[in-house]
Amino acid sequence: MGNLDIKTLTPLWTGGVGGKVDRIHETGLLGSMRWWYEALVRGLGGEVHGGPGLDYCNFKADQYRNFEIENETEYLRAAGLCDVCQIFGATGWKRRFYLSIVEKDIKNEKIQHPIKAIQRKYTNDEGKERIPTWYFPESDLKGAPPNTPKTGTFEMQIQSRDHRFSPDIIGGLIQFIADWGALGARSQMGFGIIEPVNGPFDTRPLYRRLVAASGSRSYAGYPSLKNIFWTCIRTKKTGKEETFNLKYDLRRLFSDDPKVRHFVMGTSLKSGERMASKVKISRPYGDGRIRIWGWIPEKANCYGKAWDRNRIVERIYRYLTEKYNLEFWREMDNSRDSVTPNTGDARRFLQSLLGIKEG
Ligand SMILES: [Zn+2]
Repeated sequence: MGNLDIKTLTPLWTGGVGGKVDRIHETGLLGSMRWWYEALVRGLGGEVHGGPGLDYCNFKADQYRNFEIENETEYLRAAGLCDVCQIFGATGWKRRFYLSIVEKDIKNEKIQHPIKAIQRKYTNDEGKERIPTWYFPESDLKGAPPNTPKTGTFEMQIQSRDHRFSPDIIGGLIQFIADWGALGARSQMGFGIIEPVNGPFDTRPLYRRLVAASGSRSYAGYPSLKNIFWTCIRTKKTGKEETFNLKYDLRRLFSDDPKVRHFVMGTSLKSGERMASKVKISRPYGDGRIRIWGWIPEKANCYGKAWDRNRIVERIYRYLTEKYNLEFWREMDNSRDSVTPNTGDARRFLQSLLGIKEG
């Protein structure tokens, strides 16, 4: 494997920490890689400890020494590591691969702050007309120089830390993110759509590793292959405010229930508690594509009796299908899925996402 050449299709955001040099930060990429890997492992019923805000696993070195080196995922579990920490590291256990970034042709993108959805207006509680506006967290804007979003091409150099771990697994993960997700932080601002320049990277090593870790665990309240949906629309309006126009339209679908609206679409208030949107909308890229995906959990306190996962996704689906031509709709074990409808078998669904022929 070795070197992955990556081109940004929408700007890449990897940091906003004051004082650090303005460049692509590896840590900013690793967070999103871990997030997607967790979602995949959860989808296949593998072992993922913790969750947002919780600690990573604790590695028990004394137990580890007693094991044979066959069936790696099993003995590392027995030594206290979940399937994600086995690769991405935990307390007392190093990440299995080195990642370094070589910037090839990188330019700074200006942060536009705040960003206004210029084509939409709403009337606030006091009867005044307002334009919906999104703000970056203050921490993103501080620092000297500020860590700006980047566009262009760069190289991800992936090296295995030991011979038993194949860096091709990470290559497969990057291909998955290029096809279905976003790399780096602030995906809710439309950042992080990438394209492999020397790809596509082989997704089979990733698939084999995930299958080796699969099981029967379920994770109703966390992002997972089982509760994520994906779609892509085409638009002639290619300005970056289009992301926020669409975001505003989707928020309005839940205007009858502010709690559910905040839960699904996040809070956009400048002050007060900040909740991240579970639905991500990319900036327009290529010939006017906008990638939309989101995770809607099966269970949530705010659902009450009136809501469930299906009702929420159905509203989004219906709105988008009525207003746009969808290139596809992907959702596991659901009739809405346009490629493998009603496929409850996580492996088959994952094969389809990864472009792996059965067998
Ligand atoms: Zn873990």
